[in-house]
Amino acid sequence: MTFGLLTACYVAASILFILSLGGLSNQETARRGNIYGIVGMAIAIAATILWLPPEALAYIAPAMIVGALIGVVVALKVEMTQMPQLVAILHSFVGLAAVLVGLNSHISPPNFTGAEKIIHEVEIFLGVFIGAITFTGSIIAFGKLQGAISGKPLTLPFRHGLNGIAIIACLVLGYLFLTQDHTVAMICLLVMTGIAFVVGAHLVMAIGGADMPVVVSMLNSYSGWAAAATGFMLGNDLLIVVGALVGSSGAILSYIMCRAMNRHFVSVILGGFGTSGGTAAVTEGGEVIATTVEETAALLDDAQSVVIVPGYGMAVAQAQQTVSEITNKLRAKKVNVRFAIHPVAGRLPGHMNVLLAEARVPYDIVLEMDEINDDFPETDVVLVIGANDIVNPGAQEDPNSPIAGMPVLEVWKAKTAIVSKRSMATGYAGVDNPLFYKENTRMLFGDAKESFDAVLKALAD
Ligand code: NDP
Repeated sequence: MTFGLLTACYVAASILFILSLGGLSNQETARRGNIYGIVGMAIAIAATILWLPPEALAYIAPAMIVGALIGVVVALKVEMTQMPQLVAILHSFVGLAAVLVGLNSHISPPNFTGAEKIIHEVEIFLGVFIGAITFTGSIIAFGKLQGAISGKPLTLPFRHGLNGIAIIACLVLGYLFLTQDHTVAMICLLVMTGIAFVVGAHLVMAIGGADMPVVVSMLNSYSGWAAAATGFMLGNDLLIVVGALVGSSGAILSYIMCRAMNRHFVSVILGGFGTSGGTAAVTEGGEVIATTVEETAALLDDAQSVVIVPGYGMAVAQAQQTVSEITNKLRAKKVNVRFAIHPVAGRLPGHMNVLLAEARVPYDIVLEMDEINDDFPETDVVLVIGANDIVNPGAQEDPNSPIAGMPVLEVWKAKTAIVSKRSMATGYAGVDNPLFYKENTRMLFGDAKESFDAVLKALAD
């Protein structure tokens, strides 16, 4: 392959990646966006392989085959509820790749001199630093999302000071790396890598359960910058472009998630907010009114307008298909049914949209929080299906709540709110939910799929 053809392929792939990102920003065009991404990646990989000297294929082909096989097996096996963990662990691979490429670039450097050499060394140092933080940060995020590590923030005494000392140490090591001979520079690089590993783990350990959406999108952004740094080290323009696209789109997503949670990006990064998830609620004094499948079906039969609020529990129960069928049945009776999607519902940005698209719920009745929040007072029945933190009135009513200030779906303003969950346990943020004790709330206890399968049967034809 000629250099001109390689460049043309890289430009085509870059354009396809930009179109892909554009497509993924909207549910209706997401499928097309995915196809653009797949075609772009296929062109990028094929062009890169054809550009390599044939003897390099002997090393690359086995690695690619093993990697592709692992990828296919994991993609086929992973449950929808495990996607966030999968994404987190994939980010860690990008970070580790940046570290390994950086160390390798230093061990066998290209023949650069003068300013070019310094620029290359800065690229190596920065690439390894970002990659190491991304690597351990993503592994801790994986552990937290998997439930293997507590969602409780780790607040070491003097933790901001410790991070500050680590950053200063890395700056000093960076100076030594640029000024000392090759061996001393290698030692500095390795010591900095170790420090950055610890900083990455510490940064994410300090972030509590409630801020995890921002961590996921932030690590997405870091992995992009790590890839861009790798691109600089390898002199690969496409990797720089792709890394910058992922890095900046992840940063925009982090901003959107922060806004959705009414949090400042810096305070999220500094951590120490949010508590552990999954413990029993502690509010006392209110009365919890349980309801039945028959009562739920009767309320739906009588309703003119229904809003469905899906949450993480709907993904766990895999109730989306049943919910879609209930929607069709109600709409056939001219009931106004709509879905309300909170930006941090589930465990991944866009998690609920994916589930609803899978169940073929029409896009035009799936509304964002801002589009539907004012409509609750005119709603007869709200079905809260496996959602908890995103419908917690404590965020508005209790200034001491750990999620105080986070915008939530105001479901308690509807005539009746039916909450489907298995117990009185808290959601991911570990915060008690006063919604369950409101006069117009009815608790439909049980697995969401089982409950709504029964509701579907009980609905009048
Ligand atoms: P929550 O985690 O607040 O609540 C989910 C609820 O689902 C639980 O209270 C649980 O109650 C219930 N549930 C679990 N399994 C079932 C089942 N089989 N059937 C019925 N109910 C079930 O989810 P939300 O979607 O409301 O909020 C998302 C939370 O996750 C927020 O705190 C957000 O910050 C966080 N988060 C979001 C990310 C994102 O990017 N979207 C990433 C990481 C974290 P019970 O056990 O009683 O059944």
